[in-house]
Amino acid sequence: MRLLGGPLTRPTPHARHNGAVRILLVEDDAALAASSLDGLTALGFEVEHVTTGGAALASVSGPLPPDVVLLDLGLPDMDGQEVCRRIRSGSEVPIIVVSARGDETDRVIALELGADDYLVKPFGMRELAARMRAVLRRTQATPAVPAAAVQEIGRLSVDRRTQRVHIDGEEIALTAKEFDVLAFLADDPGAVRRRTEILEHVWEGHWYGATKTVDAHVAAIRKKLGDPAWIEAVRGVGFRLGSP
Ligand code: CA
Repeated sequence: MRLLGGPLTRPTPHARHNGAVRILLVEDDAALAASSLDGLTALGFEVEHVTTGGAALASVSGPLPPDVVLLDLGLPDMDGQEVCRRIRSGSEVPIIVVSARGDETDRVIALELGADDYLVKPFGMRELAARMRAVLRRTQATPAVPAAAVQEIGRLSVDRRTQRVHIDGEEIALTAKEFDVLAFLADDPGAVRRRTEILEHVWEGHWYGATKTVDAHVAAIRKKLGDPAWIEAVRGVGFRLGSP
């Protein structure tokens, strides 16, 4: 119980264990925990489940800290907001707060206490997975291509470090979001990315069915690149990076 009193000083290493992302699920409701556990495990996450704030703090400061904490606010031994505050006082581990209370005050308080995102019960597994991936992307920055790398795709070069794009050595001025869309497609040239995938990646889960946004950005990028063939539309599916 020593851990309940003092601040947690161990930094979170964001280590990978067998390649799986470790999630600490803090939930005292057995039925909810079981469905989250099933869903997350099916998505390939490694899940440790605890039912109290005390156990959550012990896990975060323990020898095998999680990569993400999924924290219920209503816990039997202490308020989830207090758990959030204490985790944050000693660790940068991403925290997604889960609550039945959906009002703005709770949301604001949770984010002010250092939570990275906030989910209101009931939520679907797809939404949870999307939020999870978004916080991991924001906090871990592990792109497929190293940050400093300049990627050459035919005449196109994409520099993720400086966020600059060139065609035949000539710089193309893209907005930040346009760059993100193009860089996401360039992660795997030729692979088809669904509109929802692009939204999830570039807009990080803070969107609600606005797939037209993707089309608008793609249109703008095509225009700036000077040839629509750079981004091919795959009917009914999404887009892929071409090489005209
Ligand atoms: Ca609860």
